[in-house]
Amino acid sequence: MTRLSERLQDSQFSQLGDAFFTRLQATPLSQPHYIAHSSRLAQELGIAEDLMRTEDSLTLLSGNQTPAQAQPLAAVYSGHQFGVWAGQLGDGRAILLGALCDSAGQETEIQLKGAGLTPYSRSGDGRAVLRSSIREFLCSEAMAALGIPTSRALCLTGSAQMVYRETPETSAVVTRTASSFIRFGSFEHFYYQRKFEELRQLADFVIQRYFPACLQHENPYQALLIQVCERTAEMIAHWQAVGFMHGVMNTDNMSILGLTLDYGPFGFMEAFDENHICNHTDQQGRYSYRNQPSIGNWNVYALGQALLPLIGSVEQTEQALSSYRQSFEQHWARLSSAKFGLASSQPEDKVLIDDFFQLLQANHADMTNSFRALSHLDQQASDADHSLSNLFIDRTGLALWLQRYRQRLAAETRPDTARKTAMLATNPKYVLRNYLAQQSIERAQQGDFSEIQRLLQVLQTPFEEQPAFEHYAALPPDWAADLEVSCSS
Ligand code: AMP
Ligand code: MG
Ligand code: MG
Repeated sequence: MTRLSERLQDSQFSQLGDAFFTRLQATPLSQPHYIAHSSRLAQELGIAEDLMRTEDSLTLLSGNQTPAQAQPLAAVYSGHQFGVWAGQLGDGRAILLGALCDSAGQETEIQLKGAGLTPYSRSGDGRAVLRSSIREFLCSEAMAALGIPTSRALCLTGSAQMVYRETPETSAVVTRTASSFIRFGSFEHFYYQRKFEELRQLADFVIQRYFPACLQHENPYQALLIQVCERTAEMIAHWQAVGFMHGVMNTDNMSILGLTLDYGPFGFMEAFDENHICNHTDQQGRYSYRNQPSIGNWNVYALGQALLPLIGSVEQTEQALSSYRQSFEQHWARLSSAKFGLASSQPEDKVLIDDFFQLLQANHADMTNSFRALSHLDQQASDADHSLSNLFIDRTGLALWLQRYRQRLAAETRPDTARKTAMLATNPKYVLRNYLAQQSIERAQQGDFSEIQRLLQVLQTPFEEQPAFEHYAALPPDWAADLEVSCSS
């Protein structure tokens, strides 16, 4: 069995040259210990299950061993943070160890988050605390299981080494993976430094590796921007559909591949409020649930600005950017119709759907459980109605809406059982509620990591009824009302 440390190769990204990154070693973490790993991802990457629990993997994935054939690096990027140009940022605590290559030649980059200081650490310490590492580990795998494009998390490693945030905390490293970690901010970096040769080099690299079809277009850079607009729009439509809030949609956290990236103070909508702000640091609510689609638009504009010298004209750039809104509307229409079990499309569907969201808003009904209960509804009024109406205060309002909904369902041609099955495969039963993450964190801080494994298992099949884990779908307990998640991580 080849050790993991011997399987990593230098990533293709590392061929780009010195302007794009700094080669360096991770800073060893004292007495690292295994916490958890994703068997599912290990399997997808062709890593034998036993390999994840070896000393070799532990030392490699805590930064205490350098891969045999790959030279680690930290990438440079810049970005707009909360709408303001922030200048140079970069991998301040993430280190790209190398890449795994599958038999088809597809590369997966392996990154350690929390692996020590880099030239881009600014005032940070290069470390990540256990609590935020657990959240990133669980949410990455939960999002993947929900079918949402995301970076993944292979492994979670802990250490008794202390780091200081508001209070002293123990540190951890998340091993995360993606085809690429290139961000909008990677392009902005070279644009604002007026390094147009490097800008072109980066765009050519991204096109050749990830969007080769763009090479067939008259203007490949414009085609690239269209692709990124579409991917970003699709990702955010998925977020809206499950109530995921990213929390820090800065351009340095926007993946060029349209992957959910850099899990910080994220949250899943519980009591529905479209103005909900999941990030305690975001006092203005720039990244509230409702704002996410338009912030996505703002972010692709920032990317468009950076690609302007390559695309050539403002008109062509704006034309490409218009695909974001179109694409978002299409994906949202598709995903929201599916949430309501509508296989066909009718002109009045949008109003029907919007009205249900207004009911959710007025009643602050739990988003996940409401859609799940809706999925169990019968074509005719039945006992199944109660589990939905129990989530609402205004039951008359709900009943009136249900009448309209049932009339609409009557116009569907597929059998009602097929409708239910489809809805149950689209509206998850289990999402990573803040209180669930918090419970696993508190146990882990006491040295008990079993809850992380259990939660991971539940979240990896979010659409299946799991009777033994029914309580993981429960509404948040009262103590959870005070939970706050901030940028501190
Ligand atoms: P974020 O808001 O988490 O996306 O981080 C913004 C920037 O701050 C990125 O360049 C991060 O690498 C950097 N950063 C965040 N936390 C730390 C830390 N503890 N040490 C060094 N750099 C950090
Ligand atoms: Mg970031
Ligand atoms: Mg972060």
